Amino acid sequence: MSRTLDYLFDQNVEWAHRKTRLDPGFFRRMAEQQAPRFLWLGCSDSRVPANDVLGMDPGEIFVHRNIANMVHTSDMNILSVLEFAVDHLQVEHVVVCGHYGCGGVQQALAQTRGSMLDHWLQPLTMMYHKHRARINAIPGEAARLDRLCEINVEMQVRRVAATPIVENAWARGQPLHLHGWIYAIHDGLLRDLGPHLSSIDERDALPSIDQRVVDPVEPVSAMRRQAMDVFAKLDLHEAASCSCCIRSESASPTPSALPD
Ligand SMILES: [Zn+2]
Repeated sequence: MSRTLDYLFDQNVEWAHRKTRLDPGFFRRMAEQQAPRFLWLGCSDSRVPANDVLGMDPGEIFVHRNIANMVHTSDMNILSVLEFAVDHLQVEHVVVCGHYGCGGVQQALAQTRGSMLDHWLQPLTMMYHKHRARINAIPGEAARLDRLCEINVEMQVRRVAATPIVENAWARGQPLHLHGWIYAIHDGLLRDLGPHLSSIDERDALPSIDQRVVDPVEPVSAMRRQAMDVFAKLDLHEAASCSCCIRSESASPTPSALPD
């Protein structure tokens, strides 16, 4: 077996040629500056690449990823990224994006302890233990994990909002919007979970995260997810066999056609 990865260099050449063929000025523009409008704080999971999920080219989104898209206020890595993105790149949007079925979040539900990952996930683990009875009451292991993935997104958005970096940006009137999203690997679609925060007042007006666990008020995202799941199970044959549906492909429901 070869110890070199020549085929990756070959793929790189093909990619660079393809980009240049489609857009001769692409790499020249990239070399001059980067001016992304978005900072993506996501999971390291190889199936959730920010640029691909958003259909964006290099240069369009600034990215930080770690296991389970955690925001630790003692993590110099993420704080440096956040500071550079907010203070220097002047991004307008910070997106914390988790994903359903996250293996990192799953560890927070596990009984075994002792790995470095357990230290990393400690805030989420503590949240789970605090609300264990309620979360464990959710029927189905996958559903419990998915709910914890959603809670984790909201936790981390709040942690971003609590950093002096974001507070200072808001205090000086810099437009900066925080978002909580979640990605579903099974259909490739993003869901907007919230919260949406654009000021210190909005952050301070949020109900406590404990309250959100007890009383998840996410009717839009839950409804949208349910509709997506239903539509995903439909096929054109079923739609065509329904007397109330128009027999054409354009009549097939799509998630983007769903009401918000
Ligand atoms: Zn993950």
